[in-house]
Amino acid sequence: MSNNSILLEKELRECPICGKEHEIEKRKRIEQIKIKDLIVNYDEIYYICTNVSDDEDNEFVSAGMMDRNLLEAKDVYRKEKGLLTSKEIKQIRKKYGLTQAEFSFLLGLGEVTITRYEKKLIQDETYDKIMRLVYEDSLLALDYLKENKDKFKNEQRYEKIEENIKRIVVQDAEEYFNKKELMSKYVNFENKNTMNGFKNIDIPKLEAVINYIANKNKKLYKVKLMKLLWYIDMLYYKKYGKSLTGLVYIHQKLGALPVGFEELMKLKSIDVKEEVKDESTIYHILPNNDYKVEKLSKQEKDVIDTIINKFKDFNTNQIVEYMHNEKVYKETNQTQVIDYSYAKNMNI
Ligand SMILES: [Zn+2]
Repeated sequence: MSNNSILLEKELRECPICGKEHEIEKRKRIEQIKIKDLIVNYDEIYYICTNVSDDEDNEFVSAGMMDRNLLEAKDVYRKEKGLLTSKEIKQIRKKYGLTQAEFSFLLGLGEVTITRYEKKLIQDETYDKIMRLVYEDSLLALDYLKENKDKFKNEQRYEKIEENIKRIVVQDAEEYFNKKELMSKYVNFENKNTMNGFKNIDIPKLEAVINYIANKNKKLYKVKLMKLLWYIDMLYYKKYGKSLTGLVYIHQKLGALPVGFEELMKLKSIDVKEEVKDESTIYHILPNNDYKVEKLSKQEKDVIDTIINKFKDFNTNQIVEYMHNEKVYKETNQTQVIDYSYAKNMNI
């Protein structure tokens, strides 16, 4: 047993080592494997029979585990080579609502190619690039689809896919303008200073942060989200001298509100559900796990987690009240920009 091994759980099952049914340890360790020209470190999962002593061969893996381990190792390789991981390939396919075979056909590939990419085969760089472009540009996806129409045997299904991709083309155009609108609110905040926390607005980061919060907070509503964003940016600034998202916040009655918050709420990455409470509309923010968001660093996640945990049990009114008691809030006037330099005096 290697010394970096961690016990994950114990499972009662038939043991192929000693031939009895008993509790088998499921463990995880870091293993090395050579893939093509690269030695990669990956998480390997395996079973151990504790009925036989350690110096005997007491390890085994199930078929499913072996596949999973290999996929894990290959995804590490893909990440190191800057290639799409199997999960990302799946997200691209899901954007267009395609099965693996259909996505293969769209790209002009053989029926099982995408299935192989999502399982074990490492894609070549050419198709990696094409898949990325197809993800970014739905018009290009439509072109590919039309070009490879003859590969689709079921005409009705083809029509449906075409209709769906056309709908996505329209949505993507709207999204493009949403983003431009949001950016336009920031043209007067181009200089990096204490108004934006020495950072220009970073929409991919913002999307990742909001999705991360929504995943951890099932009862996330608009007002609370805006406050959490502010505290996250302020704490990040306090620690690292830079804001995380580049948002500029304005003093408003209900607390700090980011410039362009209305445009922000229209971003496709953010799943907003309108609900009615006490005869008024409230906006419930749900995680959007189909949307491909940028990865956050550990440093970024730590700051976000600190704020989420601090306000975990606060409802909207409580967080608004907490904010009203901040020194910064008492020292700024309505509609004034709340400067990041106040971060050092904040109650966080
Ligand atoms: Zn056993």
